[in-house]
Amino acid sequence: MKLIFATNNQNKVKEIKWALPSNYEIITLEEAGIVIDIPEPYDTLEENAAGKARTIYNMTAANCFSEDTGLEVVGLNGAPGVRSARYAGDKKSPAENMSLLLSNLENKKDRRAQFRTVICLIFEKEEHYFEGVCQGSIGLKPKGAAGFGYDPIFIPDGAVKTFAEMDLQEKNHFSHRKKASDMLVTFLNESS
Ligand code: IMP
Repeated sequence: MKLIFATNNQNKVKEIKWALPSNYEIITLEEAGIVIDIPEPYDTLEENAAGKARTIYNMTAANCFSEDTGLEVVGLNGAPGVRSARYAGDKKSPAENMSLLLSNLENKKDRRAQFRTVICLIFEKEEHYFEGVCQGSIGLKPKGAAGFGYDPIFIPDGAVKTFAEMDLQEKNHFSHRKKASDMLVTFLNESS
């Protein structure tokens, strides 16, 4: 089965391709010949995921999906949340985002946090949503060079390493994105 994945983030493509069985062919926007930077203007992950999937569906009429992810930090009342990509500004710099988050968490005892991914699938013209959550905590400083985004400061519950100190197989053992993709696969297996 072919599905267009409405993202330009190659790290997400790599993780989703790893997570899906080989009978699912993931077509990237680049492979579909679509050059577009889809905005994420909404206040919820669900609306942003839907906005991206609907944009691509309206252009292609093909089965497609999108995802939006946020890092929700308890001691920051759920921030950066849906604003995770632009937490430190429109440059979307991971280093600046992490540095701002660490400085905002200074003097806070509660470093618990969670990643939340919402996938919006448009399949046979209908929308379906799948959510994956990974609970953990924010480390004191960035560690590791793998992964992307906030991975160097996020330690999932049950691990002693950050996501950025793990290979993809280890990250996917805990990952929010993997949990949401497993639900997507279960749905597609049951529907086709
Ligand atoms: P978006 O879903 O592309 O809007 O991502 C929101 C922000 O969270 C961006 O800064 C991403 O780099 C970051 N992000 C998304 N997924 C992950 C992840 O799995 N690990 C670390 N950071 C992530």
